[in-house]
Amino acid sequence: MATGFSWHELFAWHDAGLQTAAFVEPIDNIDSPDTKRRFRNLVDASGLLDRLVQIVPREATDEEILRVHSPEHLDRLMSADKNGGQLGRLAHIGPGGVRIVRLAAGAAIETVDAVLQGRVANAYALVRPAGHHSARDISTGFCIVNNVAIAVRHAIDARGLDRVAVIDWDVHWGNGTQSIFWQDPQVLALSLHQNELLSTHGGYVHEVGEGLGKGTTVNIPLPPGCGHEAYVRAFEQVVLPALDRFKPDLIVVASGLDALAYDTSGRMNLHSDTYRALTTMLMQSADRHCSGRLMMCHEGGYSAMAVPFAGLAILETLSGLKTGVADPFAVIVQRQSAQALAAHQQEAIDKAAEVLRLIPSPAS
Ligand code: ZN
Repeated sequence: MATGFSWHELFAWHDAGLQTAAFVEPIDNIDSPDTKRRFRNLVDASGLLDRLVQIVPREATDEEILRVHSPEHLDRLMSADKNGGQLGRLAHIGPGGVRIVRLAAGAAIETVDAVLQGRVANAYALVRPAGHHSARDISTGFCIVNNVAIAVRHAIDARGLDRVAVIDWDVHWGNGTQSIFWQDPQVLALSLHQNELLSTHGGYVHEVGEGLGKGTTVNIPLPPGCGHEAYVRAFEQVVLPALDRFKPDLIVVASGLDALAYDTSGRMNLHSDTYRALTTMLMQSADRHCSGRLMMCHEGGYSAMAVPFAGLAILETLSGLKTGVADPFAVIVQRQSAQALAAHQQEAIDKAAEVLRLIPSPAS
């Protein structure tokens, strides 16, 4: 069965606003359209696009957005539609931008449906704006509504799934997603991120959820400088065992590609082969737990050069198809010394693994 792919040209037209401050000459925002459009274009130019199942985005409805966000949040969004504007810190939309926001959330929903209905084996929604910093009542950090959370709630509320796991490998802490599912026993919200990269500190190991959701929040805060081996170890030692305990009906990846060495917004050292390895591990876990049901939804990632190759590597892995396109940047990163696992990185992973025992398994 084929792999699904969702993209809409309007995702590149989303207006994230200019990067500007006193004595910063206005310049394009780091959340430029280029990373995503070039990702989509490389998938096309490589010939892979023709071998994927296209999943056509639709606009998410009010009802679907309100499963995650407050009515006030939706009201603010709608009232900004005519003229555009800032909805929060670093959360700008242009005039008419609500349609694009709805299309991004709707692409995530349609992608989940394509996987659940068995139309595709697995799928990737390449969306913009991103979602994982957006909480119930907050737009921030290039995120207007939380696309992944909306898709997860759709899977549970509209499609009757019992348990969904979110694996957030964006280099920034998935704070919005964590807060939305903080007390939710049906959603495992796992975030693997660079420690204290966000100005809002959090994403620590001791944050494990509350009430019925206790144990279903997992944070793996990694020290800056982690390369391929640290990420693979974190997956082997924490992510995969977490999935083994939780036993999800669906795995959703919040796929930020800003842990790449070429990305300026974080200080990790990944390359496209790391994403191949992590994707393979998640596919094997999905095979074990949920008949291979795996979908990914794009989040951050700001290197217009490197993101397309990491994205192509993920899609090649999901589909099992090879394009023969070599990543010219991976070899440069692989030559750097930071790919090996360092002792302090292992310590951080060991600490994160201590909360695994709290993750509730389904009642048998
Ligand atoms: Zn990010």
